[in-house]
Amino acid sequence: MVADKPADSSMENIDKMDVLKSTQTVIKSALEKLGYPEEAYELLREPIRLMTVRIPVRMDDGIVKVFTGYRAQHNDAVGPTKGGVRFHPDVNEKEVKALSIWMSLKAGIVDLPYGGGKGGIVCDPREMSFRELERLSRGYVRAISQIVGPTKDIPAPDVFTNSQIMAWMMDEYSRIDEFNNPGFITGKPLVLGGSHGRETATARGVTICIEEAAKIKGIDLQGARVIVQGFGNAGGFLAKFMHDAGAKVVAISDAQGALHDPDGLDIDYLLDRRDSFGTVTNLFENTISNQDMLKLDCDILVPAAIANQITEENAHEIKANIVVEAANGPTTLEATKILAERGVLLVPDVLASSGGVTVSYFEWVQNNQGYYWTEEEVEEKLQKVIVKSFHNVYDTAQNRKIDMRLAAYMVGVRKMAEAARFRGWI
Ligand code: GLU
Repeated sequence: MVADKPADSSMENIDKMDVLKSTQTVIKSALEKLGYPEEAYELLREPIRLMTVRIPVRMDDGIVKVFTGYRAQHNDAVGPTKGGVRFHPDVNEKEVKALSIWMSLKAGIVDLPYGGGKGGIVCDPREMSFRELERLSRGYVRAISQIVGPTKDIPAPDVFTNSQIMAWMMDEYSRIDEFNNPGFITGKPLVLGGSHGRETATARGVTICIEEAAKIKGIDLQGARVIVQGFGNAGGFLAKFMHDAGAKVVAISDAQGALHDPDGLDIDYLLDRRDSFGTVTNLFENTISNQDMLKLDCDILVPAAIANQITEENAHEIKANIVVEAANGPTTLEATKILAERGVLLVPDVLASSGGVTVSYFEWVQNNQGYYWTEEEVEEKLQKVIVKSFHNVYDTAQNRKIDMRLAAYMVGVRKMAEAARFRGWI
């Protein structure tokens, strides 16, 4: 157990599923513990900038459809803002704001010279053609071009966006800017200035956190039973890495359901059969629900899908000793408290999922210097960063007798608050 006492953040009067309110609650506690005045919280509780755009796209049938998009920039005291763009029907203003704050925290935890940003478009890419997606991606960049750029705000992939979409966005920005500008966006294909190891970076970061957490809990990864919720970029690669490390992946899931085999699933086969949106369970008859899957017997549980999956309703029934959050916001604050009380080691999202932005930073550095690293160099650098960050957060939790989420927020917010103070903002 990390904490004698769970996070002492006040949880009264907050909507438990409201990710923005939840993150604000923990930021407030973190700043108070660090001794910052109320103005620091006033500055950091919301993004400094939020742009809402309407993007007209001519669809393949000739009809124009107008999409709503957002770009939130949380805070640029440390440096340019940075964070992904998601394409999803559930994208909304509140979530984009919360996600931009989480990006600031991730950058702080792994010590990158960035603040956080996040973008999103309300759309369902599963129902759009390749060309429609290209027109939407280009339209979004035209709409936000004035507030983004390699020294202002650097987008990247997120839920349902990939290297092809980054390539279109980079091309559109380069046309507007009138010169080839690879550092405008990360997560690009290798031939356009992408970095080795970027595609697998989030899952690599999660894997490193699992290894460190397993050492603390005395769990041997060889033969350990792992459940992975979500089979997209993060969940898919993670299941593969766990499988290759000798762990037994006993359950995986996608948005439609979950597959379970106590003897371990054939991950290579499932990866081979999944579609480009990470769906595979529709090919099987014996599926269970996502909620039932979370309660199955296992040693390590990795929520790598969507927010609010572990709540006060099911936190008592989680069997895992270790929960590593590969998704953004999968555990509510109430559930965080319950898990801490039960002695479950929870590695919070802002730490566990920071591998992606770390290698994005490596990509941006390589673009800026025009000199490219090998896969081994990238992996080695990532390993060092994540191990150091993990122990920094873990030690903070131990020393202060708080849970790892609050500890991660304290580490994540510190540099930003300090930079804002030096600049005379607070
Ligand atoms: N979308 C990823 C995240 O949430 C990566 C962001 C980036 O690479 O800038 O961390």
